[in-house]
Amino acid sequence: MDPSRSSRFARLSPAAANVAWHASRLLSAWSSHRSRPSPTWAPGPLPKSHERTAPPLGLPRRTQSLCPQCNREAVNAVLAGARTVAEFREDPGLIEAHIVEESGRVVMRKDCARHGSYEDVLSTDPAFFRRMESLYVGHDFTCTDDEAVHNHGAASIETGRGLALIVDLTNRCNLKCSPCFMDANHAPYVHELSMDHVKRIFERARSFKPQREFNILFAGGEPTIAQNFLDAVSYAWSAGFKRICVVTNGIRLGQEDDFAARMRAAGVHQVYLQLDGTSNEAHRYRGAANLFDVKRRALENIARAGMMANLQVAVMKSVNNDSVGDVVRFAVENINKVRSVLFQPIMFAGRDALVSDDDRRARRYTLADVAHDLRGQTTAFEWLPLRDWFPTSAYSVFANLFDNMHPESAIGSIYSDVHPGRGVFSPLLVNQKTKQAVPIASFVNVDRLLRDVTAIADDGGAAALMKARLALSVARNFDARRAPAGITLASLWPILERLDIRYKSDAPNWSEQDNMDAEWRLLIVAASWFQDLFGYDLSTERMDATPVATVEGEIAFSAYNAAGWRQIVEHQHQTASLAEWHQHHGRHRIYAHGKLIPMTPTVEAGQRTTA
Ligand code: SF4
Repeated sequence: MDPSRSSRFARLSPAAANVAWHASRLLSAWSSHRSRPSPTWAPGPLPKSHERTAPPLGLPRRTQSLCPQCNREAVNAVLAGARTVAEFREDPGLIEAHIVEESGRVVMRKDCARHGSYEDVLSTDPAFFRRMESLYVGHDFTCTDDEAVHNHGAASIETGRGLALIVDLTNRCNLKCSPCFMDANHAPYVHELSMDHVKRIFERARSFKPQREFNILFAGGEPTIAQNFLDAVSYAWSAGFKRICVVTNGIRLGQEDDFAARMRAAGVHQVYLQLDGTSNEAHRYRGAANLFDVKRRALENIARAGMMANLQVAVMKSVNNDSVGDVVRFAVENINKVRSVLFQPIMFAGRDALVSDDDRRARRYTLADVAHDLRGQTTAFEWLPLRDWFPTSAYSVFANLFDNMHPESAIGSIYSDVHPGRGVFSPLLVNQKTKQAVPIASFVNVDRLLRDVTAIADDGGAAALMKARLALSVARNFDARRAPAGITLASLWPILERLDIRYKSDAPNWSEQDNMDAEWRLLIVAASWFQDLFGYDLSTERMDATPVATVEGEIAFSAYNAAGWRQIVEHQHQTASLAEWHQHHGRHRIYAHGKLIPMTPTVEAGQRTTA
């Protein structure tokens, strides 16, 4: 950090910053006719905000959806050899759907001429739903030269690069949870990616524009038990990918104290650690008796290896939604080890695809429910759904700013155009020493800050000018009277300075830098809703931000996991029958029926303990 710039920034009063901000806008308007930067990684010039596009939003609206029953029949016909994949691509069970507000909820309704009517709840708070849509940032680019990557009929991805590329290494797992949207350990065959598949997947990922940064999420099943796990990570690293993450239940990381270090050495940047609550009881429905103990040990090992964890929480109403506040408190307590909390409301797919209507209604949990439950379960600070939550895409105004500041970059900053009904987040600041936590929007006018950043990028100019205007905007939107003791404009400076590390990974030792933070650390609490067939909206699939990279190209997450593509791809590209696999590799251990997961004793600070 440059101390002189920091102290100049700290001395700015909101009033002076406001005057300077308006003066800078006038000056920028004078030069705003200049041509837009056209980076080599993009299919065209960087669009201004009014040139970005969006899917149909607002209520009521129509969209394309699927009939769950027709889709199942179409998938089964392909698996039985009665239909071709090309026929499935053309018609996976398409029907029209209506999204309407009624009785204080947002619902999807659809009718199939053969199978009758379906209704599902998309939101339990129409005001929250509307606010997220009103702050949607939009698509910057349509994909080009992507015929070999996106060719999946009505669900084909059309825009953007996405936040993450999921690489499922295996359909095997060392748990047998219910629910499990990918139905691990159930198919009569094993599907594991070979190294040739892995190489082809990463070549394809680089084959089309826009070429932006994205996170690679090695997943499964349980990726850490896949035969090629560490080799696949090493390959991705050697191919120049730096944002390499692993989505895991943490068993191997908890059982083998050196495994996190081996992952780190292979190139893993961060870990997405499944966590459903803060007790063994909260995890009991997954089958093993001591999962929380194992995950705590895994978290220690992840941190010791120099990585951060993102806690990934599957949430079901009436099952574990009373634990969401506990998970955030756990994250705050462990802020030196935890980067974010990602709540994932249940997706009725895989083992839960045939859920009854009554059970679905009882367990359905929406993004608005996450925000409201956290408000109700948090007493340490006020956490307001309509003030403190934003669509995930809001994150991208900064990506757009950095792209305008650095058009010479070989690839664009990480940019999310995720649908506002599919991803939301709330940024908190947490003090690493005192564990004080506070929503940023409680003392920063975030809505206006987002508008300012959009204006700075639209106005353009030299990078130094844009950076100075960003500082002015933060200063004019910071309310010292509402900020808790200990947070000053000066304490925001290190966070501001480090923002570009979040968006671009080209700095030397980027991973080490990204895994460190100053005294006040940003904790992102987010929620992602992956659609199942009941509330399926094809317009959101075509802009999916977390596609699954497969032998058959990159497929929108829910099209893959809920609408049949996973079964078709894994069936067609199976590695071996289960019997053949067991003959060559033996059976992998599965912890179920209340089994205790064994852990080795560990030596810590001179004391031998057994978790
Ligand atoms: S950990 Fe559970 S939910 Fe995840 S893949 Fe394994 S069985 Fe499925």
